[in-house]
Amino acid sequence: MKNSIVSLSLALRATLDMHSLNNEGGEGNQIQTRMVDIIDHNGQMHNVNAISGDMLKHVLMEHFYRQARDQKLPLCQSCQSFNTNRINADKAFMARAESEKISDATFLDQMLQTCAIDDVAGVLVTEKRSLPRKSISEFGWVLGLPDSVSTGSYFHAKYASERSAEKRAEDADGQKSGANLGQSIFHRPASSGVYAIVCHIELARIGYNDIKQTYAIDENERQLRATVLLESLLRTFLELNGAMRSTQLPHLVALEGVLTTSTSTQPAPLISPLMGGGEDHQTYREQTKQIVNALNGAEGERVHVETFDTVGDFATQMRAVIDATTPAAWVAGR
Ligand SMILES: [Zn+2]
Repeated sequence: MKNSIVSLSLALRATLDMHSLNNEGGEGNQIQTRMVDIIDHNGQMHNVNAISGDMLKHVLMEHFYRQARDQKLPLCQSCQSFNTNRINADKAFMARAESEKISDATFLDQMLQTCAIDDVAGVLVTEKRSLPRKSISEFGWVLGLPDSVSTGSYFHAKYASERSAEKRAEDADGQKSGANLGQSIFHRPASSGVYAIVCHIELARIGYNDIKQTYAIDENERQLRATVLLESLLRTFLELNGAMRSTQLPHLVALEGVLTTSTSTQPAPLISPLMGGGEDHQTYREQTKQIVNALNGAEGERVHVETFDTVGDFATQMRAVIDATTPAAWVAGR
């Protein structure tokens, strides 16, 4: 029998070497990496390397998109080409909604039926109306553990094979128009370290119309979307897409953490894996277990917790969850 899961949380520590997943863009020939200020468990301020949650959400949705096409899940015209404007850029859908003057509640029903990506990734409808669809997946910033991350800047060169006087003059002309055809040098950052990741998935909201408080799609379609979403979540950490992967594919060296699931309205607890600092691998996991016990009380297990110490264990546990999960359904009029 499958477990009817309302929500799932992941708190991870990932060791990544020589990645550039977080580049902010360049100044001249110097590319900037992203640094943020955080407070550690002792109240000390640290400036650490970080990757925004948008990046992980984007990676998740890339994996979701590929599988959605494979599994023939419905996608709006816009999401069929992975356009991030989502339903807003589906001209036919928007024109029909406009001409038929449908209500926000009906719009939401039709959108959820038309597109699995708008359903799980959320969207702010801005065309002719202002209607938010809250995302089912949530990611926090990926934060370097204080004293466990470092960023270096590395010299690179783009070599031109033909260096005759004529060719150099021609390239110099091109430079004026921004063609950048000549030989050039640039600096590119790469970071290595242990990163804290938090993620939360609200499976019970798959296909849920928040205005009507009912589901817009049937049970089979909800199951399909839930399975694809969880499968994409697993792949997100096994194949980290992001900036500069063509030459700076990240080395995933280690992954440890804690996974919680809830089969009731109790939240699936989520504690930052920053807790305790780099040397302490247990406090955030022990605290999570303690919260799970407190939430369950004497009522039996409604919240479940698993911990893992390797990438392989993480994959095995996620597989078990994927195979045993059905998305919980809210009772009408909750
Ligand atoms: Zn869409």
